[in-house]
Amino acid sequence: MTSPANTNQQTAAELLRRSLARGRLGHAYLFLGDDLGVLEEAATRLAQTLNCLQPLERGENGVPLEPCGQCGNCGRITRHNHPDVVWVRPEMKSRVIGADQTREVIRTLGLRAAEAPHKVAIFAGADRMNNNAANAFLKTLEEPPAGSVIILLCTDQDRLLETIISRCLRLSFASGVVRMDAEVAAWVGQFAELARPKSPPLFGRYQLLGSLINVLAATKERIEETLTAQSPLQKYREAEASQQERWEEELKAAIEAEYRRRRGEFAAGLQGWLRDVWLGTLGATSELAFLPGLRDATVSVAARLKVNEARENLESWEKTQRLLNTNAQEALVLEVGLLRLKL
Ligand SMILES: [Zn+2]
Repeated sequence: MTSPANTNQQTAAELLRRSLARGRLGHAYLFLGDDLGVLEEAATRLAQTLNCLQPLERGENGVPLEPCGQCGNCGRITRHNHPDVVWVRPEMKSRVIGADQTREVIRTLGLRAAEAPHKVAIFAGADRMNNNAANAFLKTLEEPPAGSVIILLCTDQDRLLETIISRCLRLSFASGVVRMDAEVAAWVGQFAELARPKSPPLFGRYQLLGSLINVLAATKERIEETLTAQSPLQKYREAEASQQERWEEELKAAIEAEYRRRRGEFAAGLQGWLRDVWLGTLGATSELAFLPGLRDATVSVAARLKVNEARENLESWEKTQRLLNTNAQEALVLEVGLLRLKL
């Protein structure tokens, strides 16, 4: 199995790529994640993509999509010594990004790019900006000088001012979310639509529970059919009774294991949507910040929740997932877990 971190990074990278392909280059990006190194890589890559001299691929509108990694610009960007790609890091002593540093960046962004098509400022550890720095920055974030792109890297979103967050296009490189296949995504979409209108609390919650129980029942049935058809039990009906018994046990165990794995994927899909709702309560509105196609439902649900409530949902559903992996009774765990969600 690929690690969730990888798949999620790929998803974020793919979202970025799609937005570039559609000709939508944002002027301020916020890359969120739990590993600064991963975010720095992603920022380096975006800076290269924008400034590569011989991109391997371009979108329909001529926007570069894939850097070569080898030209003069790509090389110097990797080595952090390109004059048009500025890195801003917390000062060694204070461990914060101060107002002076920020003003210096603003000044640099205002200058014409020395060589590259785009001037890029990368704040590695934007969560270390102190309030003065952040406030000095707001106007530039809203209207950066033409041809400049700002990338904020952040591993602790709680420390960022809302006013900063809301001015950026957000992409999450966090490892908490698993990529969904089409079936899980379809169910998560259905769940989000069911949750969208504000309904009387209990009724709404039982509808959501019903949706989850239905999809799991159908999943189990399908797994049973598929694995039973593959079992030697079907082929060798004349085998000895003891052999048949063993096959039966193996089949039962295989069905259970596969069902648990699949159930985990549905639960993780819901976790992904709850995370989006939380992002929504933090002010995310861009389509890019959310699971594809779910923006409207996600924003509606987020609009009636407080940040804390959305975060409690995340914690509580994580707990539900842990309980599902124990021998606790599934129906009960799911019922309690869904009733706890504030939606
Ligand atoms: Zn290049």
